[in-house]
Amino acid sequence: MESIFNLLLSDLVEYFISVNEKPFKAKQVYDWLYKKRIFNFQEMSNISKSLQDKLSEHFSTDMLILKKKQTSDLTNKYLFELSDGNLIEAVLMRHDYGNSICVSSQVGCNMGCSFCESGRLKKVRDLEPGEIVRQILMIEEDINERISSVVVMGIGEPFDNYDNIMKFIRIINDPLGIAIGARHITVSTSGIVPRIYDYANEDIQTNLAISLHAPNNELRSKIMKVNKAYDIETLMKAIEDYIDKTNRRVTIEYVMLSGINDSPKEASELASLIKGLNVYVNLIPYNETSHIEYKKSNNDTVMAFYDKLKKCGINVTVRREFGGKIDAACGQLRASEVEK
Ligand code: SAH
Ligand code: SF4
Repeated sequence: MESIFNLLLSDLVEYFISVNEKPFKAKQVYDWLYKKRIFNFQEMSNISKSLQDKLSEHFSTDMLILKKKQTSDLTNKYLFELSDGNLIEAVLMRHDYGNSICVSSQVGCNMGCSFCESGRLKKVRDLEPGEIVRQILMIEEDINERISSVVVMGIGEPFDNYDNIMKFIRIINDPLGIAIGARHITVSTSGIVPRIYDYANEDIQTNLAISLHAPNNELRSKIMKVNKAYDIETLMKAIEDYIDKTNRRVTIEYVMLSGINDSPKEASELASLIKGLNVYVNLIPYNETSHIEYKKSNNDTVMAFYDKLKKCGINVTVRREFGGKIDAACGQLRASEVEK
């Protein structure tokens, strides 16, 4: 049975027309689901009994199952079970400007970045749009508050599941649905270049973050296999095209790995690579994991790297450390469960 949460409002309208129901009824159902948060068709009181039954026969409204939740000051980390038993993670971060959530896009990841837990366990399958939508619904219910921004930076490579991610974005962006503004939605990719061009041509203005992590091909290919398929020059061209077409600023993510990519030499190289582009660099403190030998850069090294970029006129921030104590690196909670 198809999950109702996979449907755009237009899909639901189409279904209603196909079963000879009035299209405006679809809006009412959407309203129950996303505004009133009633997921049982039988409780949708302005829907006729026969339509309630039809909907129940056709669509599932099953939620994800909460398997584990870890809380540390401003962060909640959730482990969810999907209907086929697979596990995924999502993280809630509380900021002074609102709640943001980091969602998973796949079960595991095939990109194989050497520092990443999610990639250590290969992809089992893509997530459906509704399975990503439900990560938001589950967490909003848990905290009894709304989420104002979404980053697709959990387990998985979103651009390896492109169509489902775009559908997910359209579903949560619908003003009659969860209504998260496009400017509050960010997709992070390791650099699947053809999809960056596609993303630039979408009619919805969401944000792009690029996991760069190294300023030259030799180093990047060592830590990110994707660089062998799409090298830095090819990637930079795609980023420039995205900025040209959308006029939007791109985030460059750079995870700080001790002794690997964190020297002043790499800072200078990075500065020359992105100089003049409408980007800003987010330096990410590495979350160490027991299975991977990399260590996080110490604070002085991060600050020296930061200063060097600043001096070169680059916009740069250091990411606040979210939940280092609670297995918050993407994939860690799932890995510790799967490998128990
Ligand atoms: N696959 C996408 C999105 C998910 S990974 C991508 O790679 O962009 C989200 C971000 O977390 C990426 O920048 C990734 O490099 C980073 N990341 C992965 N493992 C990490 C760890 N242990 N500590 C800190 N950041 C990590
Ligand atoms: Fe996949 Fe992103 Fe992890 Fe690389 S960093 S293995 S692309 S989830």
